[in-house]
Amino acid sequence: MKISHHFDDATLMAYSAGSLPQGMALLVACHLHWCPHCRERTRVTDAVGGAMLDTLEPVVLKEDALNAVLARLDEPEQEFAAVQSASSSDSREMPAPLSQLLNKPIDELPWKRIGYGVRQLDLALEGPGATRLLRISPGVSVPHHTHGGSELTLILRGSYSDEMGRFCRGDVADLDGEVSHQPIVDTDEDCICLIATDAPLKFTGLMGRLVQPFIGL
Ligand SMILES: [Zn+2]
Repeated sequence: MKISHHFDDATLMAYSAGSLPQGMALLVACHLHWCPHCRERTRVTDAVGGAMLDTLEPVVLKEDALNAVLARLDEPEQEFAAVQSASSSDSREMPAPLSQLLNKPIDELPWKRIGYGVRQLDLALEGPGATRLLRISPGVSVPHHTHGGSELTLILRGSYSDEMGRFCRGDVADLDGEVSHQPIVDTDEDCICLIATDAPLKFTGLMGRLVQPFIGL
């Protein structure tokens, strides 16, 4: 897999610090599963985070702090580690953290048609923002939109092009609220992406306003 588009440093720092919303952390873990370059970068951001912790002044803890930490060790893992995926043929198509979560081949998921050749599946994860899979038909473009916050996209199948370039399987688009873009699927196969935001999308233009009630979260 040839990956050309990667995360910003700020996104990997936030991932290392554990401060990303659940869906964004899932998406980063999925890309890391495929991308040795970003795995190497997270070794650095993990180290920087550790070094910053070392420079903090020690504070006196409350008496029950140790017990509270020990109790949390018994809680279920929140993090999306690089887990072993199910042994379906789909496991090669999807990165392990996503395949483990969905537990179904991508073509058998309960896709919801939202019009204009676009289907979606809301992963309904907890926390701020939204996390979903979008499945866009060839030649279809997603309405022009900007972002109230950050938006991460990971291409799972097919490809699209927009103002920023061409994005293929494994690539990520790491966009902040300033960017307005209109991706269009540029081959004859569906483009399937995982998209995680920390704020709702804002569609612009007439088509955007028409589709907003269906896609807006
Ligand atoms: Zn990467």
